[in-house]
Amino acid sequence: MRIRQKHGKAPAINSNIPPGDPATAWDRRRAEYRLVSPLKRHDYRIVVVGTGLAGGAAAAALGELGYDVQAITYHDAPRRAHSVAAQGGINAAREGALDADSLTRFVKDTVKGGDFRAREAEVFRLGQESMRVIDHLNALGTPFAREYGGTLATRSFGGVQVSRTFYSRGQTGQQLQIATAGALLRQVNRGTVTLHPRTELLDLVVEDGRAQGVIVRNLVDGTVSAIPAHAVVLATGGYGSVFYYSTLAISSNATAAWRAHRRGAWLANPSFVQFHPTALPVSSPWQSKTTLMSESLRNDGRIWVPKKANDSRDPLQIPESERDYYLERKYPAFGNLTPRDIASRAGSERIRSGYGVGPMKNSVYLDFSAAMKTKGKPYLAEQYGNLFQMYQSATGEDPYAVPMRIAPGAHFTMGGLWTDYDLMSNIEGLFVGGEAGFTYHGANRLGANSLLSAAVDGWFVLPLSVPNYLAGLSDQSLPDRHHHAFVAATRNVEDRVRKLLSVGGNAPPEQFHRELGDILYAGVGVERNEASLRESLDSVIRLQGRFWREVSVPGGRHHVNQTLERASRVADFLELAELMIVDALHREESCGAHFRSEYQSDGEALRDDEHWSSVSVWESMSDSLPERARFLARQEPLEFSVVEPEIRSYR
Ligand SMILES: Cc1cc2nc3c(=O)[nH]c(=O)nc-3n(C[C@H](O)[C@H](O)[C@H](O)COP(=O)(O)OP(=O)(O)OC[C@H]3O[C@@H](n4cnc5c(N)ncnc54)[C@H](O)[C@@H]3O)c2cc1C
Repeated sequence: MRIRQKHGKAPAINSNIPPGDPATAWDRRRAEYRLVSPLKRHDYRIVVVGTGLAGGAAAAALGELGYDVQAITYHDAPRRAHSVAAQGGINAAREGALDADSLTRFVKDTVKGGDFRAREAEVFRLGQESMRVIDHLNALGTPFAREYGGTLATRSFGGVQVSRTFYSRGQTGQQLQIATAGALLRQVNRGTVTLHPRTELLDLVVEDGRAQGVIVRNLVDGTVSAIPAHAVVLATGGYGSVFYYSTLAISSNATAAWRAHRRGAWLANPSFVQFHPTALPVSSPWQSKTTLMSESLRNDGRIWVPKKANDSRDPLQIPESERDYYLERKYPAFGNLTPRDIASRAGSERIRSGYGVGPMKNSVYLDFSAAMKTKGKPYLAEQYGNLFQMYQSATGEDPYAVPMRIAPGAHFTMGGLWTDYDLMSNIEGLFVGGEAGFTYHGANRLGANSLLSAAVDGWFVLPLSVPNYLAGLSDQSLPDRHHHAFVAATRNVEDRVRKLLSVGGNAPPEQFHRELGDILYAGVGVERNEASLRESLDSVIRLQGRFWREVSVPGGRHHVNQTLERASRVADFLELAELMIVDALHREESCGAHFRSEYQSDGEALRDDEHWSSVSVWESMSDSLPERARFLARQEPLEFSVVEPEIRSYR
């Protein structure tokens, strides 16, 4: 195993959280932030990489403030970011509901849901800003669902017993992204934001300890160029697609985060990956991804497996008395609305024990027959119609008539680039927002809190914290793109592209990605243990070697070459996967989605707050160091003063 130092020995980490009451930390910090005069803002250039919900919002807001914003995306339009895939909804602690929801309850649910591995003060900020987020996005034109009287409708998600999720049918992410992309394009028209579509970040330029710009490749003509900046924001999404089969868009990847990491940006908790309990099961080794069925379906769908192992009867032939509604049985207080880690683990345990259903025996049922009887088809169609259509077109089965088949699938990455309270990484001037970062969610993200975190970061945190940093730069001119740091980084990117093209093997990059996914699902999946992790680590290191000997990347570099793009991303996944495993091995406890089978009590995750109430923060050292010195671990201690750590129970 390649860990240089155990926790405690490396230099301390300054998370920059305002001392004192976490509930008022954000108000105090906001009041302190320095400002830049409106007359000077255009002199500052900010590169925002990613135009999803987080990046699109940050670019639009910083553009509206008057900064020179360069917005970069590998998509052909901002409208296309992976955020459009989000179905279920976005949370807000609006306090007005009948069910006694409140900011305090939001914070408790979120901190507990994340198994006490998130920063409490940041969760307060998330809840506090959630109230503004809904009004803001509503004003930008998001067609939120409404009650008869015109007020905004809500529904419930896992891990909570109140109804705080705002939604637009099963297309919430799409509608939020449309609103955000519209706001961004308004700034493009005003000339404050320059949009660079079909442009991929392949390196970060760091000089004098500061982020000074990025190196990008134009995906149409292959030109590699430098974009200098006073500050860089990475809002490049999550890396769940490292598992190959994931609920993410096929092109979602880890390159931006990993390239920044290789330039010195720390990664936090990289092994914290959420497996969504309601993904569609893999039905063929040749499919390229898996599809998500929104968690909102668990409001009306009941999850079960047959009580008898290997029961291959048609589900409609299995009487009530022979069905095991295992979530309702094990967790009567939350039932089908247990958080995702609990539901995924319970489902995967049933599948592993021989109760799985479907042709590959790799799924469980999500059944709407009770709701059909009590609430009727029009109700279900109104609530979930497009999700039902999606399921039918993916499987050919009618979910109004037969239960859906679902299975845990790699989904959301709680880990990501480390940032302080101001969303600034350990590299000055490098900011991170949305799923690319690690804050808020601890070891398990509650449903509908991610669109919220992307929106809060993009609309309400980065537009204040980036200017605060710029105000301290005291009129520094834009870095010179001919500076040796830019020239060297550009050459590095060009050399790497040439290297990929010249391997001359005969295996497509996708093959390595599939193999990597198999290794990770088997050894670093819903459940891990020391043996499975060590075996996976060896397999990943062997796969890295094979990749650089056997990968085939036909074509050239001066035209569209999607195999080249893919190969470059797979190479980064292979390196990231190694660190994910090292992180999972390092954390000798179970918490949230990180379930080490050695650490459990009565089948539930067994946290070790005495030793692991901390964020694991990783630095990759030089490749030239011997194997065992490859990664340096730091621990950032976590403090809880409002939500007392307790054993997490949903029973
Ligand atoms: C199927 C599905 C359903 C979901 N449903 C919900 C839900 O109901 N509620 C909820 O809260 N959350 C949900 N989530 C999670 C949520 O959608 C995401 O966490 C969130 O949208 C991430 O937004 P983002 O802006 O951080 O990243 P993204 O939307 O992934 O945007 C990333 C951006 O970065 C760009 N980019 C990435 N790398 C580079 C690079 N190297 N160079 C240039 N550009 C780059 C991309 O082009 C894109 O513009 C769901 C996720 C999935 C997969």
